[in-house]
Amino acid sequence: MEKEMVKITSCDVTDCSYNKHNACHTLAITVGGPTDVCPSCDTYLPGSQKGGIMDVQGGIGACKVENCGFNQSLECTAPSVKVGAHESHPDCFTYQPR
Ligand code: SF4
Ligand code: SF4
Repeated sequence: MEKEMVKITSCDVTDCSYNKHNACHTLAITVGGPTDVCPSCDTYLPGSQKGGIMDVQGGIGACKVENCGFNQSLECTAPSVKVGAHESHPDCFTYQPR
């Protein structure tokens, strides 16, 4: 069965290369890292150079945050996801601890 990718409805981290108008424009981000305590966006790329595809609404490619209630088999099953700034890095704000 083909599964639709979970979409990122907004991202407030405007200094990321993939961000334009508070939206993410890369096909798929990865959330979480092996040592992260936060559900951070691993695809975050700070810088003034803009990339991504403006016609594309970003999605969740993979999520390593096993302790989120929306995580099943290391994939995101949330209806949609919001990303925002937490301290100096972007976090998934849809994260819900189990
Ligand atoms: S979701 Fe991640 S990759 Fe996309 S714009 Fe935000 S920080 Fe950048
Ligand atoms: S909602 Fe949970 S499973 Fe989905 S990307 Fe965020 S942290 Fe990962």
